[in-house]
Amino acid sequence: MKKFSGVKKTSEYDPFFEKRLRMVAEQIERRGVNDAHILEVLKKVPRHLFVPREYLDESYQDHPLPIGSGQTISQPYVVAFMTEKLNLCGEENVLEIGTGSGYQAAVLASLAKTVHTVERVKRLADNAEAVLRSLGMENVFVHHGDGSLGWSEGAPYDAVIVTAAAPNVPSPLVQQLKEGGRLVIPVGSRWRQDLELWVKNGTEIEKEAVLPVVFVPLKGKLGWRDDD
Ligand code: SAM
Repeated sequence: MKKFSGVKKTSEYDPFFEKRLRMVAEQIERRGVNDAHILEVLKKVPRHLFVPREYLDESYQDHPLPIGSGQTISQPYVVAFMTEKLNLCGEENVLEIGTGSGYQAAVLASLAKTVHTVERVKRLADNAEAVLRSLGMENVFVHHGDGSLGWSEGAPYDAVIVTAAAPNVPSPLVQQLKEGGRLVIPVGSRWRQDLELWVKNGTEIEKEAVLPVVFVPLKGKLGWRDDD
């Protein structure tokens, strides 16, 4: 398992450290996410750096937050839960659709070998890339584009995570997944979805609904249309 190495300035005083520990204990461990590596990473990734200044005080609270352009950074528990479903061991090539703030990408990059993350809103992609670089995370590649088509240049992937709600699972995401690979994605209506876990086994796909969720929409060619 890869050791977390994202934050270079760990010796400096971090006023949010206690809040992070409390977030992990009360929101994540208590709800049943117990993977020690994930908990360790969540205790270290500075979530407050991924949140707009005006929400700094709410960075570690138990809900999503606005990040501009009508988008959100997901609730910490949902980040942890989705990450756990990917069963990462440190050697994987991961695709994330919906970079948003870059926080989920930072968590993934601390648990996998490489992460390709795709964001449709250029301003968010640029912002996330700047924060990830400032933390010294060199194994995350931020791409601006329509992630409903996946990211074929980085394929095949051991794991795919979609952090926006799709009406159906876009077929390129399954095609770009390796044999035995895992995909987590919220699927359903604009206002309510089930988080689905797909495991690719030859021509067979095992599917399971694992959590009811509410995500912002996956827009794009194989997602929702702008006027939906
Ligand atoms: N993972 C993010 C984080 O850690 O902050 C949260 C993602 S937010 C809930 C969903 C993101 O998906 C938004 O930033 C939105 O712009 C993006 N999105 C929606 N449709 C997309 C598409 N077709 N391709 C890439 N990103 C998309």
